Amino acid sequence: MIFLDGILGNADTRRRLGEAISAGTLPHAIMINGARGSGKRTLADAIAMALLCREGGERLPCGRCVVCRRIRAHEHTDVKYLSQKAGKATLGVDEVRIIREDMFLSPSESDLKVYIIENADALTPQSQNALLKVLEEPPRAVYIILIAPSQDKILSTIRSRVQAVNMECFGTGEVLTHLKRLTSGHSEERLTLAAQASGGAIGAALENLEDEKQNERRALVECTLAFVGALPQRVPFSKLYGALLDFPTARDQLRAALECTLVALRDLIAVRVLGEDAELHFFKSEGDISPALKTVSARRLVSVTDILLGAIADIDKYVITSTLLTEISVRIKKHSKADNFAKD
Ligand SMILES: [Zn+2]
Repeated sequence: MIFLDGILGNADTRRRLGEAISAGTLPHAIMINGARGSGKRTLADAIAMALLCREGGERLPCGRCVVCRRIRAHEHTDVKYLSQKAGKATLGVDEVRIIREDMFLSPSESDLKVYIIENADALTPQSQNALLKVLEEPPRAVYIILIAPSQDKILSTIRSRVQAVNMECFGTGEVLTHLKRLTSGHSEERLTLAAQASGGAIGAALENLEDEKQNERRALVECTLAFVGALPQRVPFSKLYGALLDFPTARDQLRAALECTLVALRDLIAVRVLGEDAELHFFKSEGDISPALKTVSARRLVSVTDILLGAIADIDKYVITSTLLTEISVRIKKHSKADNFAKD
């Protein structure tokens, strides 16, 4: 039996969900978490199709019947979507109340209804509370699927009432393999760049192949490489400082550059711990990492990671982001032993 076809990787998740749908034991409230482009929406649609598809066979859903096709095109009346209005940052309580009332009405053309709440992290605490009751006791024949990058902004009362499904994150090598299979006519350099800054998500990697994204990603990867390249012992501190000054100052881009750097640091820590068995998310392979970079101590990598995590958390507090960059360099210098950096 092939379950929830068309979603890359996530084999265990697909099998587990597929078997539950077949057996009629799928929980009525699910939350799908995963990075941008990791396939959360595709999975939500596939679950809706599997619940409503009436064509038996070796595949669930069949993906070809009228029901499946209409769900894929978001045209099925018993599969409803809720997301915040264009230009709005949050999903208000009134919108939730409308959909909540709707859940108590009978399905129009099938025997069950599926509600997909996109960007559940945009639900205000008040909106989340408005959902609580239906999540606790969903109306008969109603399935509710919430989608959010993470559960960070989700109230614990909601979290405890939904079955969490986490989308898998791929290593850079795997993303590259999928990109090669899914696309054609791109150079190796272009594909690598797209894979490197994808956070392990195929959808994000595909987006990265677009022209305007490529330049943006190239800049991120260059910033990251210059920064981590300045971490080995005996490299003058001025090099690290210089690398930080080259980071973008626009807030969103700076956040993206710091996040990209964190991914590279995570790779370096993984290589220190696991050697060539490490699954990498920035570097293509262990052999892609320079020998000097492999000598950076785990202690230093972890302390720099902590400093960057703190910086990302504080980013909105800085009116002028270059001040934050200077502060990062000061913090790194303070946390490093004096002999870690060569004299300029
Ligand atoms: Zn079907």
